[in-house]
Amino acid sequence: MKCLRCSQTDVLVIDHVLPDGTEVKFFWCHSCEEKWWDRDGEKIDVTEVLEIVRRNRE
Ligand SMILES: [Zn+2]
Repeated sequence: MKCLRCSQTDVLVIDHVLPDGTEVKFFWCHSCEEKWWDRDGEKIDVTEVLEIVRRNRE
């Protein structure tokens, strides 16, 4: 996995399953500390992740 910002490959990947069953990945670059989320191979905003969590908590 390459960092979207600095193109280094030193990226930490953590798999997450959201409360509604959506599988997402969290990426964190060790080089430039860029963080991003991915759903089905597409980058999604962290606010979208939090929205899904919030919506399913109620
Ligand atoms: Zn980076």
